[in-house]
Amino acid sequence: MHKPKLVAPNIYLLPALKPSAHCYLIRGEKNTLIDTSIKDYRDHIVQQLASLELTLDDIDDVIYTHCHHDHTGGGELFPNATIYAHPLCAFKLRYQDENCIHSLKYQLPLPAHLPDKLLEEGDTYTNGDYSFTVIHTPGHTDDSICLLEKNHKILFSADTVFVKGIPPLITDSGSIGSLIYSIEKLQQYDIELILPGHGPLEKNVVECLIKLKENLIKKIAQDNKKTIEEAKKWQKSRY
Ligand SMILES: [Zn+2]
Repeated sequence: MHKPKLVAPNIYLLPALKPSAHCYLIRGEKNTLIDTSIKDYRDHIVQQLASLELTLDDIDDVIYTHCHHDHTGGGELFPNATIYAHPLCAFKLRYQDENCIHSLKYQLPLPAHLPDKLLEEGDTYTNGDYSFTVIHTPGHTDDSICLLEKNHKILFSADTVFVKGIPPLITDSGSIGSLIYSIEKLQQYDIELILPGHGPLEKNVVECLIKLKENLIKKIAQDNKKTIEEAKKWQKSRY
């Protein structure tokens, strides 16, 4: 078992079982989980919490960073938790918008524990010494949020930013242009530690965001070139 890793005071990384996402636990006056992984990984999550002397019932709040099933599918494991999410995420989950959630395509049930409270741009969520500001960061999806702790300079980046500026997938509701907008938004803040939804943590934040933006601009150029080639082929095949 991968053990929970203390990544900042009272913040634990509960490492992912691949291909699902990491969870993060914040221990303060309450126990907050950021993302839930999937329901099938119940035993893994139970063991990780047990090593911190916690049970599934001890989780008070859960924050979904976006609607994807690998971040929200485990929500029902936490019956006592109040669930927080961006309104766009909440609506997709409420109306079971599989095109965006991606549960059924992996033969998994749609997330069943729906958001109770909404988190919008600029809202704050507090637990103990930490106060997180919600930053709406469309790109990977249109409902993605990052959580920024301004005093401790920590960012929960979910699937918006990965280590070394590796671009995330741009999925059904997202776009590269939106993601560049979100990166520029994040570049306005003083951040020293990025805690992503997948993969290793990132401490070289400035370089990481510059690299990510460069990679995305290159990707647009590549995609456009490909589209031009395909359009030429299509034109030829017509005549
Ligand atoms: Zn995702």
